[in-house]
Amino acid sequence: MLSLRGIKKRYEGQWLLNGVDLDVSEGELLCLLGESGSGKSTLLRITAGLEETEAGRVFWNCQDITDLQPNERCFGLMFQDYALFPHRTVAQNVAFGLRMKGLPRHEVEQKVTEALKTIHMASFADRQVTELSGGEQQRVALARALAPDPHLLMLDEPLGALDHTLRVSLIHELRRILHGSGKPAIYVTHDREEAFAIADRLAVLHEGHIMQTGAPELLFKKPVNAWLASFLGLGNLIKAMSAPPNTAAVTFGCFTFAESINLPEKSACALLFRPKDLLINAQPLGAVNTFDAKVIDSVFMGDYWQVNLRVQGLDLEAHSGQPHPAGTSVTVTIPPEKIQVLPQ
Ligand code: ADP
Ligand code: MG
Repeated sequence: MLSLRGIKKRYEGQWLLNGVDLDVSEGELLCLLGESGSGKSTLLRITAGLEETEAGRVFWNCQDITDLQPNERCFGLMFQDYALFPHRTVAQNVAFGLRMKGLPRHEVEQKVTEALKTIHMASFADRQVTELSGGEQQRVALARALAPDPHLLMLDEPLGALDHTLRVSLIHELRRILHGSGKPAIYVTHDREEAFAIADRLAVLHEGHIMQTGAPELLFKKPVNAWLASFLGLGNLIKAMSAPPNTAAVTFGCFTFAESINLPEKSACALLFRPKDLLINAQPLGAVNTFDAKVIDSVFMGDYWQVNLRVQGLDLEAHSGQPHPAGTSVTVTIPPEKIQVLPQ
């Protein structure tokens, strides 16, 4: 439905967006994830028509809409700082976009009622927005964006101003409401937990490009490179030098993998292995991928103990069924089939 092709934007000679391609299909909840300053908001503003692109085109259902005015695109926006009108009621706030469209009064009332039902706040119509909690205000902002029946909804860090507990409880509700509306949506965030919780599909923006796009499970299992694995916090990541077919050198020794690596000799690469796959005292020194380590501490995490280890100046994290006393010497083993070799 929405297709961005080759979108470019620079500020002060620096390319912020350097050829962005992105698609959102019918009813899909796409999450655009990226660090602060990576250009997420700029990309949304270009999509909405609030800012011009220097190159590339914006398509809606195969029609080129790059030169259309924002109001001609029928896209809905919800920003973190897109504040509600404080001296109006909930209903008056939700009615705002409908009045702007010049709809007759009875139709406005009917659509406001529908929108408030969608967010489960039908009984709040006559309340002043200043009497509402932060989470309720964000739901009203969502109802205001949904009420004019936009083709596409864009949400820019909508939960950014709320505290963590509230964010966690709202994110699932937001997902249900958005799926229930059947509208395609782009949800922007810099928070990976929020991204994994909301997305049907993730797109990660980095250095002016979409670095990887796919279902959350795909990005979790097969990140395209070391930067992405680190940004997503996927586990232990150590720098290495490839030695094909199936080994790589690291500062404290040599790793062997189950599969052959697809890199030339002596390429800088990174080894990724998950904390749950790191075994403590499972093998004697000298066994494959087994190294001497010192326990820094063990932290109780509920379902497991997070054991922080140091192997010759390098910090590693293991998830273990039991704690290990700080200061003890142990061996750590990483089974060859549990290691992913990623390009730097
Ligand atoms: P994000 O939403 O991912 O945090 P933004 O799209 O807001 O990123 O912008 C990224 C960077 O682009 C900003 O840090 C700023 O340096 C630059 N930028 C954005 N808009 C402007 C502007 N109107 N003028 C100059 N620089 C801008
Ligand atoms: Mg932003």
